[in-house]
Amino acid sequence: MPKTGEQPGPGLYVCGTCDQLVRLNDADDVLPPCPNCEGTEYH
Ligand SMILES: [Zn+2]
Repeated sequence: MPKTGEQPGPGLYVCGTCDQLVRLNDADDVLPPCPNCEGTEYH
């Protein structure tokens, strides 16, 4: 599963803790901490 600090590529990622959606638009965008709960694991 992608985590904060990784560059998993463009797409929609769902916080593993609270289901917050985070969208990355570019291949070099870094996953931020979840804006809702500051979780660091996505799926
Ligand atoms: Zn979250």
